[in-house]
Amino acid sequence: MFNLSGLSTSKAESRHAKVLVLGAGPAGLSAALYAARAELAPVVLTGTQIGGQAALTHTIENYPGFPEGVGGSELGDLFQKQAERFGALVEFDSAHRVDLSRRPFKVFTDNGEFTADSLILATGASPNHLGVPGEVELTGKGVSYCGTCDGWFFKDRKVVVVGGGDSALEEGLFLTRFATSVTIIHRRDELRAGAILQTRAKENLKVDFIWDTVITEIVGTEKVTEVRLKNVKTGKESSFPTDGVFVFIGHTPNTQMFEGQLEMEGGYIKVNDRMHTSVPGVYASGETADSHFKQVVTSAGMGAAAAIEATRFLEQEGD
Ligand code: NAP
Repeated sequence: MFNLSGLSTSKAESRHAKVLVLGAGPAGLSAALYAARAELAPVVLTGTQIGGQAALTHTIENYPGFPEGVGGSELGDLFQKQAERFGALVEFDSAHRVDLSRRPFKVFTDNGEFTADSLILATGASPNHLGVPGEVELTGKGVSYCGTCDGWFFKDRKVVVVGGGDSALEEGLFLTRFATSVTIIHRRDELRAGAILQTRAKENLKVDFIWDTVITEIVGTEKVTEVRLKNVKTGKESSFPTDGVFVFIGHTPNTQMFEGQLEMEGGYIKVNDRMHTSVPGVYASGETADSHFKQVVTSAGMGAAAAIEATRFLEQEGD
């Protein structure tokens, strides 16, 4: 897992950074690497998820440079070490409010307050919830949003996976290591996931599909016992016994704290092709600003671009 040694958790103090990066996923840590190599001594506030969503992925097969694939958490660890090698300071702290009305920008965190000459926002995205009865009550008792984290608990059990995208298929395939069967429940009869994952899922004997169907309720008291289903074409309702429900139905960008201060579009921070937000000196990268690609490699690229632009901005400002 991640190397947390050397992280400062100093309390209630105001500190200044030339470049402050919010988020320690591929975008934030790539931004930190570039800003560190520009000798700007960036500070990275990790938020609650070091490594971002990628760190929750068992194996990443499409990040260049790793022909055999690389563990998600291992890749996050490597990103962090590389940024730290050049002087980035990675702090286990979460921002909860920002003031972007003037420079230096202000960022209020769990541990205190920062001022920053430039900001790189890379706060990522959080998994969407189904919003059906039973989901909240049974989270951690059979309902999960992370196969890599919770798959082991479903050894020799039956699970269902909700969604038809890359995450649903990738995580569903990972769950076949533990579960006796993985039933993918998708609201349409066509998958959104890429071709390789579709082929692997369809060829895997442990994987079944229920098409054109949504979950209307997750049932259980101490643990999940079944899901209530509805066929969206016929309206027919049914029950399906299961021990686990893994939900992969997309993500919502973690941008609430920037609302009203930055231009947004559909919940994402609006950036131009140089990662500039609507406030000079504030840049955004990764899934906070990307409604389209959402890949580790594209997020890392956006982070690097944001840091290059922040460096230029600080040079121009004479900071
Ligand atoms: P996604 O591509 O947005 O897919 C979400 C899936 O959930 C879709 O199939 C969608 O159905 C379904 N869905 C959405 N809301 C729903 C609801 N309320 N009830 C039931 N089903 C619902 O999300 P993702 O799979 O998390 O992927 C996000 C991004 O990360 C994508 O760009 C993906 O390519 C990328 N990613 C890549 C990899 C990889 O390259 N190996 C792995 C994971 C993720 P519809 O299809 O009907 O819209």
